[in-house]
Amino acid sequence: EDSTLPEVATLEALRPLLPRRPLTAHKGSVGRVGVLGGYRGEGLLYAGAPLLAALGAYRMGAGLVHLVLPEGHPPSPLEAVFHPVPAPSLPPLKVEALAVGMGGGPWGAAWALAALEAGLPTVLDADALTLEVAEAYRRRGLPAVLTPHAGEAARLLGTTPEAVAGDPLEAARALAERTGLTVVLKGAPTVVAEGDRLSVNPTGHPALATGGTGDVLSGAIAALLAAGLPPFEAARLGVFLHGLAGDLLAEEKGIGLLAHEVAEALPRARRLLE
Ligand code: AMP
Ligand code: MG
Repeated sequence: EDSTLPEVATLEALRPLLPRRPLTAHKGSVGRVGVLGGYRGEGLLYAGAPLLAALGAYRMGAGLVHLVLPEGHPPSPLEAVFHPVPAPSLPPLKVEALAVGMGGGPWGAAWALAALEAGLPTVLDADALTLEVAEAYRRRGLPAVLTPHAGEAARLLGTTPEAVAGDPLEAARALAERTGLTVVLKGAPTVVAEGDRLSVNPTGHPALATGGTGDVLSGAIAALLAAGLPPFEAARLGVFLHGLAGDLLAEEKGIGLLAHEVAEALPRARRLLE
């Protein structure tokens, strides 16, 4: 098979990747995630974004989620461990993977550069998506998954969102080549690229076109990285299950679903794969 031809991800191909949950599992053994994001200062505040990533991680099976947030940030969910910090920095965390940048605004790149010191597999999303950040992760040889939507990918590639959306396979491939990292180009369809591997995701619904669904996806992929999946596999499985959760919800409720409901539906999507 020509490795440059895109594959379409299938349930059968992804099923073996699903992390097994042994009877003896405990919250320290199934993958712990650190989420770094949020912003305190002038301008827009996407305070829910890192919290939605934490929900995505928990609903994808993370044993524990540590949230590193600006002091004064609303704490949620109840299940998370909170680390308020005055400015972007990396407190000592016992985690196996990170999700970084959600709601970061002007702090996005600083969160990512602080997170680099952990030396862990990392999902870089939203305001952490800069070429400088990507280059720093590549130089360190860290497994990193970039999760841009068309607008963020266009910014990284120096083109327009319309050009990215017009040829997402080529845009994802080009961005993976440019950065040397794993790329999840979100959209309809979402494309995952790493080196000369390209995978088109068949799940997902236009009902997912609503605020916060991308943040849920970042946390979900981080949980799969924390469980030990390599970046290309964590990305494909996370994207597939997130899209499937959207499909299930859209069938039930139609348009008007909320991002936290997509997180809530992840366990049901997962069960369809088990
Ligand atoms: P973000 O823009 O970062 O919040 O991410 C949006 C999420 O919703 C991504 O996972 C997209 O793939 C998904 N999404 C948005 N619009 C659509 C659509 N029309 N069809 C399928 N998935 C979509
Ligand atoms: Mg987003």
